[in-house]
Amino acid sequence: MSSARSPEDLPTIRALADAVAICNRCGNCQAVCPVYAETRTEPGVARGKVRLAAAILSGDLPVDADTAAAFATCTTCMACEEACPSGVPVVDIVNAARAQIVETRGLPWVKRAVFGGVKRPGILRAAADAAARLQGAAFKPATDRDLRRLRFPYGLAARRAYPPLAARPFAYPGARRKAGAGPRVLLFPGCMVTYVYPGIGHAAVEVLERAGVDVVTPPEAACCGVPLEAHGDLAGATELARLQFDQLDDLEFDALVAACPTCTSSFVHRYPRLLAAEPRYAARAQLLAARSYDITSYLVDVLSVGPPAGRLEATVTYHDPCHLARGLGVTQQPRALLAGIPGVRLSEMREPSRCCGGAGSFSLTHQELSLAIGARKAVDIVATGAEVVATSCPGCRMQLADVLSQAGDSRPVVHTVELLAAANEGAAR
Ligand code: SF4
Ligand code: SF4
Repeated sequence: MSSARSPEDLPTIRALADAVAICNRCGNCQAVCPVYAETRTEPGVARGKVRLAAAILSGDLPVDADTAAAFATCTTCMACEEACPSGVPVVDIVNAARAQIVETRGLPWVKRAVFGGVKRPGILRAAADAAARLQGAAFKPATDRDLRRLRFPYGLAARRAYPPLAARPFAYPGARRKAGAGPRVLLFPGCMVTYVYPGIGHAAVEVLERAGVDVVTPPEAACCGVPLEAHGDLAGATELARLQFDQLDDLEFDALVAACPTCTSSFVHRYPRLLAAEPRYAARAQLLAARSYDITSYLVDVLSVGPPAGRLEATVTYHDPCHLARGLGVTQQPRALLAGIPGVRLSEMREPSRCCGGAGSFSLTHQELSLAIGARKAVDIVATGAEVVATSCPGCRMQLADVLSQAGDSRPVVHTVELLAAANEGAAR
């Protein structure tokens, strides 16, 4: 259909018009797209999405619910970008289309309410506290691992297993050791570590301090904003980007480190882009981007840490998080850390960097697809025979624990720093 829209009506996606034009329709992205592998539909794959973006720009495609659904069906895993010979920035195009859709149609009221709370750290903390106290009413312990299932199951949600919200969110006052000659690191915990996996945060503190680092944390655990940007709320995501810099202003630190690659990518890639036109923030965002690290990269590339003091007798297989492997180019560092633990034997799975299907809130909004993508990952993990699954992302950890549980498999899934901390703890006993 044709449209009377003028270019001014589509400023967000129009900014990517040149990028949309460079797709040569070769189809290389088809072979690597986890969504296409399940849906076998053209809008599922990068090429189809880029064509949809071109159709929006030409006025041939309305910005309606069907268009929104097509762009929502993407894990933003970047596998297509890695395979693309033309260098099409597919994820930027997908995110721009999602933002354009929200600018044109508005944010649904449920998302407006949820994101309104997520944008305010105090409200987020109060909501997480209340949910942690009430979760027993909605969830019951699963028979395997430390997971929960819905008490009153419905549809696909009945199959899913979730980790409980932490009774005590991650908090670290710092100063467990006196400020010494070592670097001072700001450990950015993010929502998943703070509210779901505080053990990852404590393990990160342990391995950093053991390496001679002074650890500080932000005054408030604020969301990095990726969930908002992933749903097209660019204004909300930018608000959260500003908030990070406002609350970090009074802190002195040499480097920012996170145990969640989505959070790290925000400081390295997203904030400089979101704040590029804001004189108050642009230079600070660039400066901080240059000294922000994933924790495994910081331990290996900056600190050159040695092996832990203790041993762990285990065969471990490692899953590469998309935002760490393709987003930040970090693949060897976690493997070096794991292989360096005395007693650990690494057993690689087939396609370790294939998306697990978690992708943050994608696992909630696209449950069937998320589970189907994850089921392939579970098969690859089981085939390794490894006793432990390690990854370097709390979101991947949650998804892998769920899909393995659904496959009837009870092997533990942990973050890389948790294994390092466990080896150190063994030595301390
Ligand atoms: S691989 Fe790149 S150029 Fe080829 S169809 Fe996919 S997005 Fe277009
Ligand atoms: S980012 Fe991943 S899921 Fe999205 S189109 Fe590319 S390969 Fe497919």
